[in-house]
Amino acid sequence: MPRILIAECKQEVSTFNPVPSRYEDFRVVTGEQLIAFHRDVREEVGGALHVFDGEADVELVPTYGASSITSGGVLTAESYARLREAFLSAIELAGTVDAAYFALHGAMQAETDDDPEGDLLAEARRILGEQIPFVVSLDIHGILTDKMLEMADAVVVFHTYPHIDFFETGERAAKLMMRIVRDVVRPVTARVKIPALVRGDEMITASGAIGECIRMAQEIEVGISGLSAGVMWGNPFTDVPELRSNSFVVVNGDEAAAR
Ligand SMILES: [Zn+2]
Repeated sequence: MPRILIAECKQEVSTFNPVPSRYEDFRVVTGEQLIAFHRDVREEVGGALHVFDGEADVELVPTYGASSITSGGVLTAESYARLREAFLSAIELAGTVDAAYFALHGAMQAETDDDPEGDLLAEARRILGEQIPFVVSLDIHGILTDKMLEMADAVVVFHTYPHIDFFETGERAAKLMMRIVRDVVRPVTARVKIPALVRGDEMITASGAIGECIRMAQEIEVGISGLSAGVMWGNPFTDVPELRSNSFVVVNGDEAAAR
């Protein structure tokens, strides 16, 4: 019976907001509360639960969830230390698991760390080991860092802006996770760094020019070896060294095909 860990940490900061964000700004749910909360909201974790519910032999290991999508300022050192401690100690308490799903946003910044999500994933890796798959869902406005990619086996991102596919993104992440857990696929990722920051109406996925790229990504996802694909244009207000646009594909087994 696969034991699947679930953890969540979503924040989008604005480096230019002079009011720092704090731990108290987050909606925090822990343990079974994480599942109970997400039964009633159509976010990524809820979408993942919907998929896991259909798997008779899966045991869920909910750990910790925090969310604050307010464009607050950089997270204070003290608050990030508190969040990090809570997130990681919940993971430590999980015991042995067979896979881990992380619902992240990707546009965090702390006074002490320009890549908190990469840090959380790296520490989770240290706790849970190198062998189990990590699947990570992200917002299109997330900053896809080298460390996040290194720690994740596969990344799944929103395909819509304005965002209307939170739930569906979680479903896609969980479906991919189950295929990895069942040894049906072996994800390989290729990423292209795009040194551009773009804003404006053309980023509206239903009507703007970006829609063409998103539809290409969706075609890759449903292709024969495609597992996940997307375009992330980052949050221009999270002013960190790795801020840029990224496109990526995750395919089954074949690094050359991914590229
Ligand atoms: Zn967003």
